[in-house]
Amino acid sequence: MLPEPEARPADSFSSPRKQKSTKMATTETLVIIGSGPAAWTAAIYAARANLNPVVYEGEPSRTMLPGGQLMFTTEVENYPGFPEGIRGDALMEQFRAQALRFGTRVVSEDVVGVELGRYPFVVKPNYSDPIEALSIIVATGARANWLGLPNEERLAQSGGGVSACAVCDGALPVFRDQVLAVVGGGDSAMEEALYLTKFAKEVLVIHRRDQFRASPIMAERVLKHPKIRVLWNTIVTEVLGYDHVTGVRVEDTKTGESRELPVGGLFIAIGHTPNTAFLEGQLDLHPSGYIRTPEPWRTITSVPGVFAAGDVMDSYYRQAVTAAGTGCMAALEAERWLAHHGHGESPVLETAEAPAS
Ligand code: FAD
Ligand code: NAP
Repeated sequence: MLPEPEARPADSFSSPRKQKSTKMATTETLVIIGSGPAAWTAAIYAARANLNPVVYEGEPSRTMLPGGQLMFTTEVENYPGFPEGIRGDALMEQFRAQALRFGTRVVSEDVVGVELGRYPFVVKPNYSDPIEALSIIVATGARANWLGLPNEERLAQSGGGVSACAVCDGALPVFRDQVLAVVGGGDSAMEEALYLTKFAKEVLVIHRRDQFRASPIMAERVLKHPKIRVLWNTIVTEVLGYDHVTGVRVEDTKTGESRELPVGGLFIAIGHTPNTAFLEGQLDLHPSGYIRTPEPWRTITSVPGVFAAGDVMDSYYRQAVTAAGTGCMAALEAERWLAHHGHGESPVLETAEAPAS
């Protein structure tokens, strides 16, 4: 059985894996997979439309937290409605609470597979029984990328001073008064570097090009900061250190010159990969893994009745507010599609165009 509204089975994080069952627990009208701004916005709209949605919010891991990417940041300054800014985790708690207020049910599990070739669709959670779904919104977002250097992953996993989240790890005593390196040239790298200046002796931003990808305001803050030094046209070729990172070997991409830089911490901020592995073979994806939404300004996917919202289908904007916006769109499209197929009433005027498929 799914939990009642407001219930949160916290023990599902730690409970031993159950014997897999083939029993189909129930048929849901709308299943929302994910727990970032897109998923909770979809849930708010769907719950208020009496679709009785159930959200699979995922499980915590080193690279993902229920609540999504904003759980890894401090201040969110550009989400409308918060003129003084708001902490990322506080913002996501409010999204979640608003969805629960209208009766959204939550399961704190990853979805590990789906069957979209049959109808009703099948959603397979990590621990509990598979369920059937009349419609699905996929809003599983994206996760941090790594450089792929051998010592990088080992030291990241062992807590040896390599991290993809300055906000989570930067305040640890081991990083205090050290020279710290941040790899990347996007907004995440800027944010990580600025955050680390609170604790570090110096922050080196290592970027492979001669120009930042970051928004001008963030780039300017970095370039003006007295504690930050930027190494342009530079790549990290080796992470040095056994128990803890002691330095990085870097290469100048213009001259080919290689040198060692002593650093006491390495923060990787080189972008994200969409969380779509569980959809493999079931839904059309771009080569980069993002979900294809074939029609502009729609959230419909290659499978009628399955909708996609947020960073999992958006490799261009990737903002909380755009994720929330597409979450709203997906819920309205799902509501309308369900009504067209005999489940509930359509929210749109008769003059509006018919739903896809
Ligand atoms: P996400 O936020 O990525 O959340 C998806 C969540 O779904 C995952 O975290 C996971 O818990 C869950 N999930 C994943 N797979 C599964 C599965 N198989 N089953 C069940 N659940 C699953 N944007 C801004 O607008 N302003 C900012 O200030 C800002 N700061 C940022 C700072 C950092 C460090 C980062 C990394 C990003 C920042 N962004 C910011 C971008 C913003 O966080 C994203 O655009 C937004 O969170 C995307 O929302 P989403 O709902 O698509 O998914
Ligand atoms: P991003 O914009 O994709 O930037 C990734 C950076 O990493 C790029 O500079 C890229 O270099 C570099 N890179 C990628 N692969 C690399 C590799 N293998 N080796 C070395 N460098 C590599 O990702 P992001 O910074 O995580 O931002 C994602 C989205 O979230 C963006 O839309 C951003 O605006 C948003 N965001 C917003 C805020 C904010 O508004 N405060 C904060 C954080 C993130 P190239 O430039 O050469 O491609």
